[in-house]
Amino acid sequence: MRQHIDSYNFTGKKAIVRVDFNVPLDENFNITDDTRIRRAMPTLKKVLASGGSVIIMSHLGRPKKVDPKFSLKHIVKHVSDCLGVPVKFAPDCQKADEEAKALKPGEALLLENLRYYAEEEGKPRGLAEDASEEEVAAAKKAVKESQKAFTAKLASYADCYINDAFGTAHRAHASTAFIAKYFPNDKMFGYLMEGEIEAIDNVLKNAKRPFTAIIGGAKVSSKLGVLENLLPIVDNMILGGGIGYTFVKAQGGKIGESLHEEELIPKAKEILAKAKELGTNIYLAPQTLIVQTFDNDAPSKLVPTIEIPDDWEGVDCGPESSKFWREVILNSKTVLWNGPVGVFEMPNFARGTLAIAQDLADASAAGAYTLVGGGDSVAAVTQMGFADKVSYVSTGGGAMLEAMEGKILPGVAAIME
Ligand code: AMP
Repeated sequence: MRQHIDSYNFTGKKAIVRVDFNVPLDENFNITDDTRIRRAMPTLKKVLASGGSVIIMSHLGRPKKVDPKFSLKHIVKHVSDCLGVPVKFAPDCQKADEEAKALKPGEALLLENLRYYAEEEGKPRGLAEDASEEEVAAAKKAVKESQKAFTAKLASYADCYINDAFGTAHRAHASTAFIAKYFPNDKMFGYLMEGEIEAIDNVLKNAKRPFTAIIGGAKVSSKLGVLENLLPIVDNMILGGGIGYTFVKAQGGKIGESLHEEELIPKAKEILAKAKELGTNIYLAPQTLIVQTFDNDAPSKLVPTIEIPDDWEGVDCGPESSKFWREVILNSKTVLWNGPVGVFEMPNFARGTLAIAQDLADASAAGAYTLVGGGDSVAAVTQMGFADKVSYVSTGGGAMLEAMEGKILPGVAAIME
């Protein structure tokens, strides 16, 4: 049975807490963005303040073996500073019995990178490229088998389990899902996970209307599940960025060399027809900023999106599109945003995306619930200094997308079951 962090009695207990400390590091191992660390602090501090101790576990990067480059020792000092207590470090997450045993109330221990072990993900490593199907199947079976002992070891360190790693909630890994089975009556979400789940419910289950989803980014294929799941739920769908051109072409527009997926044109037509049937408004960009060479300083011009000349490609929505979309956004009571509406990484093509960030801040000020889910959209609101001017900024790109696809996240299910 699931417990709640606010009512659970942590006195004298050891909590093993899965966090997402997969933070970006520079070449000198300095943390360049510590958002993920800071967002996990309320949970860790709550346990310590309630008379418990914490065993913190995370992955960092994608090591395929023990590799000092991906060691969590690089972040121990910063985590200590944020937590306000000196954090101890266990250099092997599978051999931390003594360190865990010695923990006293109010103390914290950080385990070394979980992904040093293949068992964390439960996927075989080091298979020869020409491995036969049988060999692959045997290796998969073996790692799944040894994953049980790996998980049991982690579980043995603690009295209760807290999952606060939304960034990996869409993965069924040892530390994000399987470990929960060892704590049938002592498992719970941390505050960050609770916040993310509430944000998802606020848009998928309890949206106030009108509800507008803004979906941008590069490819339709990577967001198809999101589009199909949201179509019957939302009132308005704004489609921008690379995604928009496949739809413009599906409607007979000329898109020049703009990014699109030819093979998805039938699917785009299907989505447009379904939207009509459902009464969902689809708003494409009426105007586009185009260039002939994919370069920040390339000469550019503004044209109607349906009339992009051959040899030119769209790199941002034009100001007319921003104006048109702004009206839709400001008339909404719920707004969900995922994906830039232009090549946001290049400053000259970021205007449209930054305008959406502004619109979300303004919609929030007018009382709308606004959720920014994932990657570049988060970077845009942060760059504008609007992270606290929208209702919620999600910490999990992939996890948020899967939630928006209507999928049950394994990390969430493991606690709820
Ligand atoms: P995603 O990860 O799917 O949200 O896609 C983000 C990427 O979409 C960013 O790297 C943007 O540069 C890219 N993108 C957005 N608009 C365009 C566009 N018009 N042409 C090419 N790439 C785009």
